[in-house]
Amino acid sequence: MTTAAYTDVLANYIGGRWQTPGGRDTLEVRNPATGETLARVPLSASDEVHRAVTAASQASEGWRRTPPTERIQYLFRMKQLLEEEFDDIARTITMECGKTIGEARGELRRGVENVEVAAGIPSLAMGYNVEDIASGIDEIMLRQPLGVVAAITPFNFPGMIPLWFLPYAVACGNCFILKPSERVPLTMQKVFALIDRLGLPPGVVGLVNGGKETVDALLDHADVRAISFVGSSPVARYIYERAARAGKRVQCQGGAKNPIVVMPDADPEMTVKLVMDSAFGCAGQRCLAASVAVPVGNARETFTPRLLEAAAARRVGYGLEPDVEMGPVITPESRERIERLVDRGPAEGATVLLDGRGAHVKGFERGNFIRPTVLEIAQPAGELSRTEIFGPVLSLVNAATLDDAIAAVNASAFGNMACIFTTSGATARKFRYEVRAGNIGVNIGVAAPMAFFPFSGWKGSFFGDLHAQGRDAVEFYTDKKIVVERWPKEWSRQF
Ligand code: NAD
Repeated sequence: MTTAAYTDVLANYIGGRWQTPGGRDTLEVRNPATGETLARVPLSASDEVHRAVTAASQASEGWRRTPPTERIQYLFRMKQLLEEEFDDIARTITMECGKTIGEARGELRRGVENVEVAAGIPSLAMGYNVEDIASGIDEIMLRQPLGVVAAITPFNFPGMIPLWFLPYAVACGNCFILKPSERVPLTMQKVFALIDRLGLPPGVVGLVNGGKETVDALLDHADVRAISFVGSSPVARYIYERAARAGKRVQCQGGAKNPIVVMPDADPEMTVKLVMDSAFGCAGQRCLAASVAVPVGNARETFTPRLLEAAAARRVGYGLEPDVEMGPVITPESRERIERLVDRGPAEGATVLLDGRGAHVKGFERGNFIRPTVLEIAQPAGELSRTEIFGPVLSLVNAATLDDAIAAVNASAFGNMACIFTTSGATARKFRYEVRAGNIGVNIGVAAPMAFFPFSGWKGSFFGDLHAQGRDAVEFYTDKKIVVERWPKEWSRQF
């Protein structure tokens, strides 16, 4: 078993220096598979946030004036260091978050992809102009950085999600402060140790650990111009409202309850494999996890038995061990909450087809394990059907027709992802056209957009206007300035 890399109170990174805030409450960071304490994370208060924002504000003017071609050199170097330390960072992700080492490598790869895309900022952030838009008048659109911006991130992708924001913000000329999840702060300690080696001007990036008090201080700070948030929907809504009221630009990605429709003509083998990976990958703790499968017509007969067989065979354990396919959920409280929701199933008309509650994994008795769980729900109306479970629990809701399935998909309060498995182009097109969700999969189980595309999200899964990644990130992290210039023709004759 791997031993902890950290046992002390973790530090913040402010003004280019590591500093452990003194006299603060701390929380234990635990390995969710082994139960061992990995570190203690400080719950920074408003004074730490103020220092981080001050350092960022002081760096702001110099960084803004640094040409984007120079700014992106830091990103090239960052990419190189991330590649060099890739396996070590991935192991840290597994140790603090619980996912398998393969899943950890996968998420980090998607994070690095954002560093690569953001290195294209000199092209992505180009403005435009029209000469003689009126007689002798030229009009130009320029982009300028906002100043100091901040991001608040969740526990389930400790490596990838901070990288949805940091590279774009910095490449666009902003100074950036990260508040990672207090449940998984170690991954960013490692990434910021690499950032420290880049030689960026002090204050261009900062890291402040903490919880709600730290977040509120960022939301209320007058010098923070924009907030990016990823997490649960109730917190997303709260942050959106509070930050918008303070006049900030805000993007808040929330929770989900993602449906996958399985048509009778779907390829059985591929469908079962991909739906399984979607529902139980990362122990179901993914905002793009399938949590509802909707077999249409006789797909119930072809799909459901195979799915149950495959789900029951999934190997559960410590993600650093070879051959393990699913790790634990993040905390004992999370496991209790998930199991309580499953307990409610029968009262809400659900039949438990595969029961993963009360799981024990030999050698990891202190781990927060739940095995794959599958329910069949006749009338999806209760709490189980409405709530984001965020664990390895898949509900089956049968539908007679494609129209019924689309109606079930559109009844959800969330709109993060909806997928369909079919070999019919007409069916796929109708689904794509009619469902109300931001990320659509056709024969894909986890419809995660690559960094070149925005990570969309609709309804209760997103609050704001501009999404993360790609061109949307450039829109989010820059102000547009429109310049209208008059140059009478006669003036050019003076010389
Ligand atoms: P969470 O909402 O509990 O926490 C997210 C962040 O908000 C953390 O940094 C936390 O410290 C902070 N926070 C928590 N409560 C707060 C409060 N009351 N006031 C201010 N700040 C607060 O989310 P989580 O449990 O860490 O992550 C899981 C959730 O994130 C799931 O709902 C999942 O669907 C969602 N998620 C969404 C996406 C997406 O792209 N839409 C991606 C990943 C995760």
